[in-house]
Amino acid sequence: MTEPHLKKPLLELKNLRSYFKFHGVEPSKYLDQKFLEYFQARPSYEPTEFEKQAREDYWSVGREKLIIDGYDYTYEQNEILIKAVDGASVTLHGNESLSIVGETGCGKTSLLFSVMNFPLPHHSYKAGEINYYPTDDNVPVNLLPLSDKEMEKYRGIHFGLIPQLPKESLNPWITVGFQSGEILLERLSMRQEKIKEKVIEFLGKVAIPDPSISMEKYVNQLSGGEAQRVCIAMALLGDPRILLADEPLASLDTIIQATVIHLLLELKKEMKFSYVFATHNIGAAGQLGDVMAVMYGGEIIEIRPTKEFFEDEPLHPYSKGLLHATPWYALRKNQPLKEIPGELPKPYDWPTGCKFHPRCPSATAVCKRSKPPRIQLDNSFVECFLYA
Ligand code: SF4
Repeated sequence: MTEPHLKKPLLELKNLRSYFKFHGVEPSKYLDQKFLEYFQARPSYEPTEFEKQAREDYWSVGREKLIIDGYDYTYEQNEILIKAVDGASVTLHGNESLSIVGETGCGKTSLLFSVMNFPLPHHSYKAGEINYYPTDDNVPVNLLPLSDKEMEKYRGIHFGLIPQLPKESLNPWITVGFQSGEILLERLSMRQEKIKEKVIEFLGKVAIPDPSISMEKYVNQLSGGEAQRVCIAMALLGDPRILLADEPLASLDTIIQATVIHLLLELKKEMKFSYVFATHNIGAAGQLGDVMAVMYGGEIIEIRPTKEFFEDEPLHPYSKGLLHATPWYALRKNQPLKEIPGELPKPYDWPTGCKFHPRCPSATAVCKRSKPPRIQLDNSFVECFLYA
């Protein structure tokens, strides 16, 4: 928590940023100096041996760490109710990686952001539970009823977020180094020298060339790949237990995508965190996830270990369609590329029964009438009448 005597300068700093932004003035050096003074005023923070050990113990157990249970998210737009997430349920275990895959508009970003529990815009509603296990004593915290203030102790420290559009997400007014260090300053009360050391270390970890020089750069001096790697470093600086990655490859070209995938896998091994990776790229989802969760129409319609998903085929007709519409998979199987017929229905006008029935080659009368139940088959889950 920010000490009372330091709240004021922090507030002033934030106001100054808005002031400069409003007047279109280059605030860089002045603000950097202000940050420097602010850093110097902070007491230092070092995790104790006990804290370090507790973290080791926490992650050595592959138990449930995050359980999203029947999560609904609805918002109103132009007087129309849009159900972006519809009763989604999924579990993330310690040291596990979960890929959420689906077409644009299927609700994966809304589901990912539900964990951060950001304040909702007007006329939007959420329901269900998001239970997080912050310690190893098996006592969950339901995040949804927590206030914005209460969520502050989790955001950035327990949960790190990699945004979809790195350049737009970074602040153009201050250097990479200063904005990267903000989380260490505001939440962990680290001293300036320590922050600088840690920022350089993390920029190095994400393969930013010459970190001590690059930390003086502004976002317009970074390439798209560098900006994304800076965002990854920023998400990891608070040493989160769960990393939430929202389409982190979407704005990158294929070569850079491969380096970012490799980087995330290496960092996970080194830093021991679980992650949730939301993407429409089924190939990348397979490379990054231990488990695949497929979303359609705001629902999670299949959860299957990645190995079985690709080697034995997915279970749900939509997941099969997604895979067969992927060029590399068709090439590997020596099969023609197959399209999924029809289009994703509009989120304010979902079909009755199974939302996929207008596009499903195996649909029967019951599919049009009733919502399919969730069925467990060994270590997979599927929502489809074919398995009932
Ligand atoms: Fe197809 Fe019916 Fe299964 Fe839906 S429930 S995916 S319509 S077979």
